[in-house]
Amino acid sequence: MLKVEGVHKWMGDNHVLRGVDLQVRQGEIVCILGPSGSGKSTLLRCINHLDPVDGGIVEVGSERVGYEMRRGVLYEQGEHAVARARRRIGMVFQHFNLFQHMTALENVTYGPVKVLRQPKAASVARARELLATVGLAEKEGSYPSQLSGGQQQRVAIARALAMQPQLMMFDEPTSALDPELVGEVLAVMKRVAEDGMTMIVVTHEIGFAREVADRVVFMDQGVVVEEGTAAEVLDNPRHERTASFLRRVR
Ligand code: ATP
Ligand code: MG
Repeated sequence: MLKVEGVHKWMGDNHVLRGVDLQVRQGEIVCILGPSGSGKSTLLRCINHLDPVDGGIVEVGSERVGYEMRRGVLYEQGEHAVARARRRIGMVFQHFNLFQHMTALENVTYGPVKVLRQPKAASVARARELLATVGLAEKEGSYPSQLSGGQQQRVAIARALAMQPQLMMFDEPTSALDPELVGEVLAVMKRVAEDGMTMIVVTHEIGFAREVADRVVFMDQGVVVEEGTAAEVLDNPRHERTASFLRRVR
């Protein structure tokens, strides 16, 4: 469902991704761990083509969305593939990025109506279902400023799901939250995982990775250092860099 091969990315003089390989199968939950600055967010941005890659390939489904910009011809051909592939990916960020002037219901309904051009009534009905799924049925008329951080993040998850993505990517979705609000967001993510969604989750929540991840990937300095099951990577890391990171976050 997702194939990342030999991806390189420079940010100015900074060689941020140095040949990243990652494959994600349909229905798989992959948690990415790694120190600050290791390139986790950059990798998600490259997968979603928010940033073009400087080398290597990114394929979502069968669409090639990332490749060297220098290959101009390929890129031209790829414009529509990029748009299609991006539409298949739901993204949830650390800071919830809700539309502040819209209610929770309007936030969740906006994309299906404006982008997917689905009928309003059906979109509203589906949005209500999704708000119920994330435990916010009674908050549909609230504006983001009237919601807690955890509630806002749950609206953001519902909003991403409303676009019917094939892959959901989360970039440290709980790290901006007060500790007592982390659990409610993780619980919603767990439910989404159990419903069969394919997910990539960048997180420092080791407990969540252990419980939910089919595979844990440890990144450092722009490469995947090691990957395996949660038990393999978290309990028996093969690399000292992984072990020392885990000692610090535990
Ligand atoms: P964190 O855990 O802190 O979120 P991360 O693993 O997500 O870290 P990235 O945000 O991908 O790391 O950043 C990787 C490297 O790229 C860092 O060294 C960062 O300074 C650099 N970087 C990120 N964005 C830019 C930018 N817009 N311009 C220049 N350098 C950047
Ligand atoms: Mg980051």
